[in-house]
Amino acid sequence: MADRFEAPKGTFDYLPPEAGVRAAVERQMLTEMGLAGYELVETPVFEDTGLFARGVGTSTDVVQKEMYTFTDRGGRSLTLRPELTAGVVRALIEHGRIASGITKVAYTGPQFRYERPQAGRQRQFHQVGIEAVGSDAPALDADVVLVGHEIFRRLGVEATLLLTSLGDAECRPAYRARLLEFLRGLGGDLPAEARARAEQNPLRVLDMKDPLVQELTADAPLMRDALCPACRAHDEAVRGLLADAGLKWVEAPRLVRGLDYYVRTTFEWQAAELAAAQNALGGGGRYDGLSELVGGPPAPGVGWALGLDRVVLALAQAGRLPADPHRLDALVIPLAGAADAAAFTLVRDLRRAGLVADLPYAGRTLKGHMKAAARAGARAVVIIGDAELAAGEAGVRDMQAREQRTVPLAGAVGAVGAVARRRPPGADPSGPPDLT
Ligand code: AMP
Repeated sequence: MADRFEAPKGTFDYLPPEAGVRAAVERQMLTEMGLAGYELVETPVFEDTGLFARGVGTSTDVVQKEMYTFTDRGGRSLTLRPELTAGVVRALIEHGRIASGITKVAYTGPQFRYERPQAGRQRQFHQVGIEAVGSDAPALDADVVLVGHEIFRRLGVEATLLLTSLGDAECRPAYRARLLEFLRGLGGDLPAEARARAEQNPLRVLDMKDPLVQELTADAPLMRDALCPACRAHDEAVRGLLADAGLKWVEAPRLVRGLDYYVRTTFEWQAAELAAAQNALGGGGRYDGLSELVGGPPAPGVGWALGLDRVVLALAQAGRLPADPHRLDALVIPLAGAADAAAFTLVRDLRRAGLVADLPYAGRTLKGHMKAAARAGARAVVIIGDAELAAGEAGVRDMQAREQRTVPLAGAVGAVGAVARRRPPGADPSGPPDLT
């Protein structure tokens, strides 16, 4: 027997109904993003490796350990995107979209990181995100945070907002030097991994989970206390707007996040439902300077990415997943061979009327067909047997009410529509079309 294949480690197959539920969650996210004026963009799944090295930062775990990098047949070094901000900013620069004014874009798609797979941590995962480029106004920081907040509200996910400011090119270098001095002062007490991190990016020692590192750095200087006047004013303006909109947050002065490009406002949403290592539902921040890093004009920006996989996981654990959006309005059963053509045409007409209709594609007894219809969750069954065919009629059965009536074949579409509309409200958010 030939070898069987399995999905690569750290990847998942999403089959019905799970894939439909994920798409329903994604649609709700996109709706909120659209209400705030973020318009969809699509960029390649792979980019020049240099874009991520420069944009994401060579000292990050993402670039050092997690990229899927390959050489194509033309000898180019390409990398499957580990995140989307760098690619989106690259696209906006390339197409001259950040020359003037504010550009608000949204995206959704798979990302790739070579991580150790576990629940909520995959090698291929799906992010939904927004980016607002072209302004350093604090109102834009507040806008992106608010959109995320409204998404969690719409979905019914309990997410805690962690918020801090990482300073900027004005105040961070001096703080960084002071922190490095503090960390070096701890000498051999600090575990080797933390010492190595300190030399590369001392801020990233502060968000290490190791309890010993946390204890040793409890008195470390914090960026929050070292902000320059401009960063402080920006931070206060953002917080003022968020507070006015009724948002609550937790101060997170040790939050750093894994990507190097963040300045000023930096945030993360955490879920109470998920284990600590994978409880980040999403995060983001301001990245003034990223555009210049990847060869563009000055273009301050701010954005976030949510992990769709983790949001779905949190919804599942809270018992709040949306209902399976799939619905079968009618299973049309030709009971005699001669009824095949009439059944096929009726299925076409039902679909043209916006109803979900299908055939059984199998010869069974009526009882077998009814069982299959119930299993498929059909709202109505349309039966066309010899007698119905001869009379130009069809039997339309409401599966929930267990009632059946005979209607002229030409009226079958309307009869199925009436059955589909009779479902209790809220049973299906997309609902059957109004055929009247
Ligand atoms: P980041 O791009 O690292 O800021 O991540 C943003 C969000 O993407 C995180 O908060 C997670 O929800 C999600 N995410 C990041 N890495 C993974 C992964 N390996 N597997 C699943 N979700 C992830």
